[in-house]
Amino acid sequence: MTSVKRPWNFSAGPSVLPEPVLEQAAREMLDWEGSGMSVMEMSHRGPEFTRICDEAEADLRQLLGLNDDFAVMFMQGGATAENAIIPMNLMGLRPEHKADYVITGSWSKKSRAEAERYGDVAVAASSDQVWQRDGHVWQPLTWVPPVEQWTVRPEASYLHFCSNETIGGVEMFSFPDQAQMKALGAADVPLVIDASSHILSRPMDFSNVGLMYAGAQKNAGPAGVTVVIVRKDLIGHALPMCPAAFNYANVARESSRFNTPPTYSIYVAGLVFKWLLKKGGLEAIEKENILKANALYGFFDQSSFYRLDVFPENRSRMNVPFHLPDTQLDAEFLKGAQALGLNQLKGHKSVGGMRASIYNAMPLEGVMDLIDYLEWFEKTHG
Ligand SMILES: *Cc1c(COP(=O)(O)O)cnc(C)c1O
Repeated sequence: MTSVKRPWNFSAGPSVLPEPVLEQAAREMLDWEGSGMSVMEMSHRGPEFTRICDEAEADLRQLLGLNDDFAVMFMQGGATAENAIIPMNLMGLRPEHKADYVITGSWSKKSRAEAERYGDVAVAASSDQVWQRDGHVWQPLTWVPPVEQWTVRPEASYLHFCSNETIGGVEMFSFPDQAQMKALGAADVPLVIDASSHILSRPMDFSNVGLMYAGAQKNAGPAGVTVVIVRKDLIGHALPMCPAAFNYANVARESSRFNTPPTYSIYVAGLVFKWLLKKGGLEAIEKENILKANALYGFFDQSSFYRLDVFPENRSRMNVPFHLPDTQLDAEFLKGAQALGLNQLKGHKSVGGMRASIYNAMPLEGVMDLIDYLEWFEKTHG
């Protein structure tokens, strides 16, 4: 269907979508499966959209291997609104209204600041300081404090962390298990995880997860829908102030249709889920993501020109920030990249430098083209 080769899009979000998904959405734009309607024109309670929404939920459950202990909801407001919706729903799990937050970057800091409006919030651990390890001083927010050093209050309603800090490029590759939570004296504290920028990038262990949330526009679909997965036994404790449309009890009971959900975004996210299933699910996509990340990090590791700041064990497979030796070269680097169809490589202003986001929908070919350019730029400017 597409005849023009599109540029490679390294944006952190909204970000690249799988081309077959965009093509299918284009084909179905005016007439979804003989209904004579665009998905945008359908009643959210009609049989057509009911099927679209139910299939999206079932496919997501299959991809993540979720059992019936969990409710899956498609909500609105992005991860930012969810930062408030979560404490409004979960703070009341215990009478103390306490929640503990791990700080590893910009997004977890924002989550914590928002939660403070709804209860007694404490920092369980923070990497917002330098860290001496392996004969090197790691800068603030480029590493994850080891789980053994987290302090979690046993009476906390939940423990929150961001498992992939999109801006700093800091990823957690495992979540605390039952033995680790027990060792922290917090065996009964459920984990609440902001997985916005790496959900669906690999299989994940949900055994200790109370809630996982993700704005779809990074790795799961278009902007407008937030994926929220919550253990059903945690539902039903919302604070009285919680808006009805954000109360998990309402949204889960009505299968994401308590009020009008973002129908088109759910439809496109559903196409992404089907694309992933067809590829072989999360084991298959993880293999591709490892290949892409190894190629890019492998290139940087042998280069004496570019600089990486993140502690190696926490280097994100999805978001790869890097620096040129001199910020004076940044503009020229970006201009040359853009001319070759390597787009949106500018880093976030709080970190500076460059950032390549290489989500599920970025093919290995795009990463190899980026490496060719990085190599050429080093040769001509090193
Ligand atoms: C993008 C992002 C957010 C904010 O998402 P919005 O949809 O803009 O609210 C929160 N957390 C993480 C990890 C993100 O990557």
